Amino acid sequence: MISVQEAQKIILDLVTSLQETETIDLDQATGRILAETVTGDLDFPYWDNSAMDGYGVRFEDVNEGNTNQPISLKIVAEIPAGIKPEISIQSGEACRIFTGAMLPDGVDTIIMQENTQQQGKQVLVLSSPKYCGEFVRKKGNFYQAGEILLSAGTKINEPEMAILATAQCSKVTVYRRPRVAILSTGNELITTTQKLEPGQIIDSNQYALKAFILKNGGIPISLGIVEDEPNLIKEKIIEAINCADFVLSTGGVSVGDYDYIDQILEELGGKISISSVAMKPGKPLTVAKFDNGCVYFGLPGNPVSALVGCWRLVKLALYKLSGIKGDYKPQLITVKSNHDLSSQGKRETYIWGQLKLVNGEYLFILAKGQQNSANLINLGFTNALAILPIGVTKIKQGETVTVLMLCN
Ligand code: AMP
Ligand code: MG
Repeated sequence: MISVQEAQKIILDLVTSLQETETIDLDQATGRILAETVTGDLDFPYWDNSAMDGYGVRFEDVNEGNTNQPISLKIVAEIPAGIKPEISIQSGEACRIFTGAMLPDGVDTIIMQENTQQQGKQVLVLSSPKYCGEFVRKKGNFYQAGEILLSAGTKINEPEMAILATAQCSKVTVYRRPRVAILSTGNELITTTQKLEPGQIIDSNQYALKAFILKNGGIPISLGIVEDEPNLIKEKIIEAINCADFVLSTGGVSVGDYDYIDQILEELGGKISISSVAMKPGKPLTVAKFDNGCVYFGLPGNPVSALVGCWRLVKLALYKLSGIKGDYKPQLITVKSNHDLSSQGKRETYIWGQLKLVNGEYLFILAKGQQNSANLINLGFTNALAILPIGVTKIKQGETVTVLMLCN
């Protein structure tokens, strides 16, 4: 049995990032991964413009003013946002100007409206600006044409959407989304629409894993339920590895008489590099790679075990596959535990619960009810897993604990 850290390394080494790209409309790009470096051909701001509603002036004219001796300037123009000013402001003159409006020639400083008083065609400057250029957004101050705006491998979220829009990238080239086949194995399983007969179990894993894939940018391919019958499993696995980059199956990887997955993967030419990991829940985990590049994750059937395996290990693999640039590390933080936490200490133990902000400090709040890998009910609202390393059997309330954050 290998450690979680070793498993993480082996898995990441098995995965190569996708190379295939597609060019899509910007408004379809949220959550996608940029496949090319983007540069802009416009400075940002595009031109000198006003950061305030107020008056555009020449600094030298107003440098010496104060409330007792306000400086009076002649208002010679009004410049709203969106037009190119045609005038030039001379000494002793000012223009009325609004936020975002382009500066006319001669103006180097903006006096905010609150520090002025309009008197007919004149404006009184009640306090002088702190420096030449105050409240001016200078052309190219935030970004200069030709510099890198966004690098390949960047995930497109709200800020990146704004950046791409402002650079007028109406089309973007992104990596194609990873395709992930999901199948559930077990004679006892039925679908959500079948009538539950004694002894049966409803296939919740299919849905949980589909949500996990969708949330992490992949395309789930639901292959449904397959009975614990080697020929049927084999057929499904062949279908799965031929249509997907990753396969996630649940069940059939323990040591029971109906656990056939490992044997079938080998028969099909899969190279198994992991068959169990020293974690709890989630110990039975088979990872194999096929010659066509497909990586197979045989997860345990218990619903919590399957999800913990996804959260801790599959997620990083999916990030790497997706083309996201980064160091593919789990998001761990240290917080105070609000409860006593315990483990048998033999395997790295994952305890589910919530990170909650209490009086400005994050606390780990243990999920109510049993920590049992079949208990998918108290898994609801989980956004964090506390981790007790091998050898640690207890963390007392108020002590710190390392927590895996599950938010993206
Ligand atoms: P296995 O790993 O096949 O031994 O399954 C372990 C436990 O997980 C058994 O109690 C199964 O009934 C349960 N289980 C297996 N697959 C699923 C599934 N797709 N959805 C919900 N529970 C499952
Ligand atoms: Mg089973």
